Amino acid sequence: MSRKILVTSALPYANGSIHLGHLVEYIQTDIWVRFQKMRGHECHYVCADDTHGTPIMLRAEKEGVTPEQLIARVWQEHFDDFAAFHVQFDNYGSTNSAENKESAQSIYRTLKANGLIEVRSIEQYYDPVKNMFLPDRFIKGECPKCHAKDQYGDNCEVCGAAYAPTDLINPFSAVSGAAPVLRNSDHYFFKLSDPRCQNFLREWTRGGSLQAEAANKMQEWLGAEGENKLTDWDISRDAPYFGFEIPDAPGKYFYVWLDAPVGYMGSFKQLCNLPSPASGRGAGGEGAPLNFDDYWKQGSGAELYHFIGKDILYFHALFWPAMLQHAGFRTPTKLFAHGFLTVNGEKMSKSRGTFITARSYVDHIKNTEYLRYYYAAKLNGTMEDIDLNLEDFVAKVNSDLIGKYINIASRCAGFISKKFDGKIVLPQNMFNYGSESQGVESDSLQAMFASRASVIAELYESRDYAKALREIMALADQANQYIAEMAPWVLAKQEGQEEKLQTVCSSALNLFRLLTLYLKPVLPELAHQVEQFLNIPPLQWSDAQTILQRHTINEYKHLATRLDPKLIEAMVAANQENLKPMTESHSETRHAEHQQHAIAPIAETISIDDFSKVDLRVARIANAEHVEGAEKLLKLTLDIGEAQPRTVFAGIKSAYDPEKLKGRMTVMVANLAPRKMKFGLSEGMVLAASGETPGLFILSPDDGAQPGMRIK
Ligand SMILES: [Zn+2]
Repeated sequence: MSRKILVTSALPYANGSIHLGHLVEYIQTDIWVRFQKMRGHECHYVCADDTHGTPIMLRAEKEGVTPEQLIARVWQEHFDDFAAFHVQFDNYGSTNSAENKESAQSIYRTLKANGLIEVRSIEQYYDPVKNMFLPDRFIKGECPKCHAKDQYGDNCEVCGAAYAPTDLINPFSAVSGAAPVLRNSDHYFFKLSDPRCQNFLREWTRGGSLQAEAANKMQEWLGAEGENKLTDWDISRDAPYFGFEIPDAPGKYFYVWLDAPVGYMGSFKQLCNLPSPASGRGAGGEGAPLNFDDYWKQGSGAELYHFIGKDILYFHALFWPAMLQHAGFRTPTKLFAHGFLTVNGEKMSKSRGTFITARSYVDHIKNTEYLRYYYAAKLNGTMEDIDLNLEDFVAKVNSDLIGKYINIASRCAGFISKKFDGKIVLPQNMFNYGSESQGVESDSLQAMFASRASVIAELYESRDYAKALREIMALADQANQYIAEMAPWVLAKQEGQEEKLQTVCSSALNLFRLLTLYLKPVLPELAHQVEQFLNIPPLQWSDAQTILQRHTINEYKHLATRLDPKLIEAMVAANQENLKPMTESHSETRHAEHQQHAIAPIAETISIDDFSKVDLRVARIANAEHVEGAEKLLKLTLDIGEAQPRTVFAGIKSAYDPEKLKGRMTVMVANLAPRKMKFGLSEGMVLAASGETPGLFILSPDDGAQPGMRIK
């Protein structure tokens, strides 16, 4: 039965570029949507740029453009990035649209009529130079706990303390630098503390719309029955602000987080207003116009799914359903929260070159389906973080996609083209293949492949793509085993084996066709190329139960190439390089200036002969351990290529965990007279940097240096 499904991804903020972290969600959602469409469901996928708020306003001002110009430019960048990764929205809108304004204002009016809006005067920091109220992130000052300078108004990045902006010592405006003053202003609140909201949310969050992990988190935030932990939500901001004005409240604007989720509605409304049916509609063939109320009215039978990051659960699992419920709309069927992306096991980092934008990936790697495949192989429908291990990425693409999947076609297609005029022919009685009309018989490999369609579909449906791909690759292994056993390249050289050769290659290409069908949600572009090569209409999920019995294919063209690790290296290097001009103009310049005054005076000049008396060697730290009773020392065992390793006591205990030092390369003074110490004989010295500021840093040679090499 055909379902009506509306799917959204979180709206990217119009203040920055799409990066590989963002793409986890859009790729996850797009795979799910493509799968639903292949199943024949009426599925619509909408998203939009999130365009409002102080950061947009200030950035536009800094660039000397209007906010509208800024968001138009970023919209195009985002749109192009998504298209490059084959993320296919049915509508990609903007929260700064007429449709969204209408929805936001109408929701607000209904909430107000229902007695859920309250106006209260609050005291807030105001920038007297810039003439604006300051959001927490635009106030800086000294941390009240640890006294670190230059901390934000909401929390300290040094000690992690959370506080109110009014707690900061010597606060200043990050916009103008002026000392802010406290002023009163009327703010509009959505009364989440109202028993109607609390009771509704308590029920809704337990109703199966959330992953178990998320539901537990919500119970924590809601508190126990009768505890009423939720406080009212401040939904207004004072002018100047880039956003929508609140009806009948001059100078007051909706806080960006109010109209952002409403953007899902606004974008869908745009889709309904599009003149011609979009691609997602009419999967069932009907050309009926899309009706907004069918999907959004309370009691709607359509399904509504929001894919989001776990960091914005609060907004989507509490504020959003409460707003919808009390404004007369339906609530989400389910929220699908995912974890964050790490690269090589660590947070994406600009200094390591792993903060990679979508654009940079496209420029270096080009094939974006490789990343879709890798993410899919990691996503299992939970809120766990996923890791992009760049080495594993290359290995997986090359072994799975190229080595297993593409390999099937490249080994068999040529024989069909060259020897049989492109004709696939399967005799009815050979290898037990059934005919199209009878369906597929159960004891053949083809039938076994076809029988996996429902299992793989369930895995896609539950967003366990990792398991779906493992299933599919296990099938690919069997197809390859079949080809290896039948050895078409041997048959091709034997007389009288033409018919068998044609059958074997025809079977293999049928298996390849089914693998393509199963992989199509993940690899839409590659599947499209295969459809052209096999000369077949776009594959639907139900095609798994059919077979190409007598059919002419087109000539095989190379489908994909191996991923070269050098491309990854170049991408990472380029992202490190990109950083330089940016940091030099900001914090690091300041840092360098600061250090010019802080370094110790340079020592007396020496001759080259003086220097050459010091024998510095590359050393491998074979072992590192704590020394009983020593406060500052670690005992290092250093290999510099001699018969016996050296023991050196180094005063680096405060800075290094011995476990982390093992196996590392460093530099030692090899001809320093041995020194008898309290804990034993020290046979040299390791070099470490230190300065006025805390911290000790041992040296490392570049990759490739071997123990014992002399440093000159
Ligand atoms: Zn602090």
